[in-house]
Amino acid sequence: KLSLLPPHFLFLPEQRSFLIANEFFYTITTLAFLLYGCLTADYALRYLEHKKNLFKKKIDYNSKHDPLTGLMNRRRISEVFNTCNNTKITENINYAVCIFDIDNFKLINDTYGHDAGDFILKQYTKKVWDAFPEPIKIGRWGGEEFLIIFPTINEKILYDLEDLRYSIASTPIEYNDIKITVTATYGISSSRTIDSPEKILADADEKLLEGKNSGKNRIIVSENF
Ligand code: GH3
Ligand code: MG
Ligand code: MG
Repeated sequence: KLSLLPPHFLFLPEQRSFLIANEFFYTITTLAFLLYGCLTADYALRYLEHKKNLFKKKIDYNSKHDPLTGLMNRRRISEVFNTCNNTKITENINYAVCIFDIDNFKLINDTYGHDAGDFILKQYTKKVWDAFPEPIKIGRWGGEEFLIIFPTINEKILYDLEDLRYSIASTPIEYNDIKITVTATYGISSSRTIDSPEKILADADEKLLEGKNSGKNRIIVSENF
């Protein structure tokens, strides 16, 4: 008969309360550990999710930007170009495209070194970036060639570009205490009378070449602007 009773009935009342207290203690401790485990796992999962999102953002950013200058890369600036072209088709809003190329950049590399060349690319483009805030877009088209896309057109663009060209050309860039004068040549065209991005770019590029052949350090504006 005794064996049918729960085990603590075999003990005296004071021993029983000790056993109950003991059981209570173990239950609470186990629950506390479980809770701690759950909270830690939850925190770890959240942390991993956060890291994954940061990583995704970084990959996305890197796929759209040039690592040296921080400007849009060729792929991203091409997308912007196409977006402007769609706006032209659907809303008849004209846009302008300017291509510029640093003058005698090979000579700069050969004279001051490749690091100086990199530094100059960063400094030059930073000045362009500061002069043309959003919604104007700037991208690295390749090497020492860059695109500026103006989503709308007005006369002021030309004055601003000329101010920029002149101001950079007349303020030498300082690299390791050496003052280096850096100039660039610009060609600009627009969607006013041309209907495809390729043709607009080819037109601007032609003007850039014209500028290079006529002495560099200048802006040549297409009649299509
Ligand atoms: P021009 O005035 O006719 O444009 O002559 P240029 O010397 O600027 O043009 P060229 O095409 O002969 O030389 C461009 C040089 O730019 C060659 C290439 O090594 C250098 N270059 C391209 N990308 C980079 C870069 O990211 N960093 C550095 N330091 N140099 C670069
Ligand atoms: Mg060049
Ligand atoms: Mg070039």
